[in-house]
Amino acid sequence: MNASEEFSALRARALICTACRLSETRTSVVFGVGDPAADLMLVGEAPGRNEDLQGEPFVGAAGKLLDELMEGIGVSRSEAYIANVLKCRPPGNRDPMPDEIDCCKGYLREQIRLIQPKVVVTLGNFATKLLLRTETGITRLRGQVFDWWLGAKLIPTFHPAAALRSGDRVRDQMKEDFEVVRGALADAAQAEAAPSEPEQISLELFR
Ligand code: URA
Repeated sequence: MNASEEFSALRARALICTACRLSETRTSVVFGVGDPAADLMLVGEAPGRNEDLQGEPFVGAAGKLLDELMEGIGVSRSEAYIANVLKCRPPGNRDPMPDEIDCCKGYLREQIRLIQPKVVVTLGNFATKLLLRTETGITRLRGQVFDWWLGAKLIPTFHPAAALRSGDRVRDQMKEDFEVVRGALADAAQAEAAPSEPEQISLELFR
């Protein structure tokens, strides 16, 4: 199987997943959206009500802000890939539970392995804590560039819903963070045009 076939098979498997309790209350499995060969991947927390109904991540108000932030750095939704830590909605939009994350994280790991993005943006604490294996909060980590798995750069930022709740300051900080993302994408494109020694960092992820 090539990467595209593997990706389709992974999606098909996720769409019928019953590994955790969320399968009993979901309307749709929200696998992800965008280009499966994207340079930029964004990882949120879990589908909300609108996403559960439509089967697509970030389609509500938080999604509109995310689209604006991406457009601000010249990337459209269809050019990036957007996924969540959890593929199914927690009832009432409660926080994901640790056992739900454990059940679901293999899908995200495989998505990242097959997409091989150059830059991964984690949106909020859940995605950041899982992918960076840290307990440090998003306020301290946001806007920093981490050397990550498969040679990618990982850049944490706030969850767009936090900006909707907290107002202009958080929104402005997210805009700053997306400028860092723009720079990392440009660096990656330049490195591809003039390859130097590959700098592969191997991290034991999703343990
Ligand atoms: N919040 C998320 O984390 N993901 C979505 O898809 C929607 C809202």
